[in-house]
Amino acid sequence: MTAPPPAPLVDTHAHLHDAAFASDREAVLARARAAGVARILSVGTDRGSARDAVALAAAQPDVYAAVGIHPHDAGQADEAALAEIAALARAPKVVAIGEIGLDYFRNLAPRDVQQGALRAQLAVAREAGKPVLLHCREAHADLLAILRAEGVGRVGGIMHCFSGDLEVAREALALGLLVSIAGPVTYPNARRLAGVVQALGLDSLVIETDCPYLPPQPWRGQRNEPAYLAVTAARVAALCGVPAAVAAVRTTATACARLGIPLPKGGSGGAGGPA
Ligand SMILES: [Zn+2]
Ligand SMILES: [Zn+2]
Repeated sequence: MTAPPPAPLVDTHAHLHDAAFASDREAVLARARAAGVARILSVGTDRGSARDAVALAAAQPDVYAAVGIHPHDAGQADEAALAEIAALARAPKVVAIGEIGLDYFRNLAPRDVQQGALRAQLAVAREAGKPVLLHCREAHADLLAILRAEGVGRVGGIMHCFSGDLEVAREALALGLLVSIAGPVTYPNARRLAGVVQALGLDSLVIETDCPYLPPQPWRGQRNEPAYLAVTAARVAALCGVPAAVAAVRTTATACARLGIPLPKGGSGGAGGPA
């Protein structure tokens, strides 16, 4: 007798095209599939990695791509770069614009330059009619103000690797965004994030690895990969007081609907029942 297959998960934010996976990407994908990760969104951070993400999505049936310029690289977001991102956004299996946003923690680009790149790429997203993937560190007030001013609700999006407090989360939801939970929710000291998950409940949440960065607790200090998403999913399920299969089914349905990607088969997970 074999165990039933795990309920399918969607990794809504990975950098699977990254050089960190150059030597064993097929094995990483095989482990992801075996762990029930049925869809992976590979997210670009500059022109080169956006092209790489699009190429990987074209080559792998269960990989999708997002294209955008990260706030760290906002200085590169000139007219030619923005035109290339807009062109890549029309490629098959490109389902979102990102990652874009503000990072006042590392401040690798001046704040006004980051804000300009964010506004310009929100315009690209409106033009493409695609949701946005938002990166934000220690910049939530400015980010929310820009998202409101630029009418982000017309395209929707996901606050990736959420690190804000409950008030920020509620404002993001009011703007039409989802909140994405990454590996840090499994860290013993992640009390604020755990509280956000419990307060928001499952229907506002999706999950991600952000691999190769931010591995869940058992793999801290190592390279992260999509197969580890199951550990984050299990922690979110426990915080929400539901079986793991229920959390898988509901976050998968939410992610597929927001990103406009097909729902994987086996989506019922045999979980049934209200939660
Ligand atoms: Zn990020
Ligand atoms: Zn990322």
